[in-house]
Amino acid sequence: MYKKIYRAIKKYPNIVIARHIGVDPDAMASQIALKEAIELTFPTKHVYAVGNGSVKFNYLGKLDKLDEVPKDALLIVLDTPDRKRVDAANLDQYDCRIKIDHHPFVEKFTDLEYIDDTSSSTCEIIMDFLLQEKFKIDQKVAEKLFLGLASDSNRFLYNNCTSRTFQLTSVYLEKFPMNLQKLYQKLYMRPMAEVRLQGYISENMTITDHGVGYVKVTSDIINKYQVDSASSGNMINNFNYIEELLVWVTITEDAKNNVIRINIRSRGPEINFIAEKYNGGGHKFASGARVATFDEAMELVDDLDQVCETYLKNHTIKE
Ligand code: AMP
Repeated sequence: MYKKIYRAIKKYPNIVIARHIGVDPDAMASQIALKEAIELTFPTKHVYAVGNGSVKFNYLGKLDKLDEVPKDALLIVLDTPDRKRVDAANLDQYDCRIKIDHHPFVEKFTDLEYIDDTSSSTCEIIMDFLLQEKFKIDQKVAEKLFLGLASDSNRFLYNNCTSRTFQLTSVYLEKFPMNLQKLYQKLYMRPMAEVRLQGYISENMTITDHGVGYVKVTSDIINKYQVDSASSGNMINNFNYIEELLVWVTITEDAKNNVIRINIRSRGPEINFIAEKYNGGGHKFASGARVATFDEAMELVDDLDQVCETYLKNHTIKE
């Protein structure tokens, strides 16, 4: 499949690269790194990276504004398993569409697709693709791919980090020595206000009978701590390795968009099928959902508690 994707990239003079709504470092880094590698390799091509950004990720580079889709263009959608989550690209306007993703398969919505749900991140797939197909790569491309991989794997913490993940990282580090401390600073530096919000979450997390930790973060709390409504969800990974928790959930009111955002993590039972039931999805152990009310969010928590109860029949919570 790499060869077919390479041939499509070679063929089209105009290429648009999109990814999922709710930008995160893996989605945006893979997108901008691929754009830059294509431009280095094929300097006459016009490549656009589209979608809504976030000032938080400005260090990954600039996104492009595309007023009109060029005629006969190629669309590459990264890190997105379903059509409804594609940000800022109308699939019908393209001559050819490609998907490259590491989420479990949800639906086919492009002409060509490369899915590897055993990969730690979309950046890991792009790292491999660029090497295999002999694209030109520079320091900036390599650092972006490292950042996306490090972010999605939570610094190599999960089981989807394989020998291949370390091998690819090693090849890139060897070719492009990096100041890791400086790079991690870009990913993990945060204001004191967010640390204080983390304190609020720890203080106010409720634990169900079967090990689901959940916290409701209302817009009053968001305003009180003077943080962005994405902040609570962004710190979900900080609650790993807590003895009493098997699954943990942040439930955040997003008043601006009139929705309640849910972030879920698990260190045991699979949870993505529950997220799917509530207008969401994601990976087996890292998912998200969106609901309209806190009552609906509590139904999701009850479902997760049942999943944990079943899981606990075969495991102990400390495992
Ligand atoms: P997050 O908690 O935002 O880091 O997301 C964890 C995983 O769940 C990522 O793979 C997201 O793409 C996916 N995800 C988050 N929110 C949603 C949603 N509303 N619908 C589908 N997938 C989601």
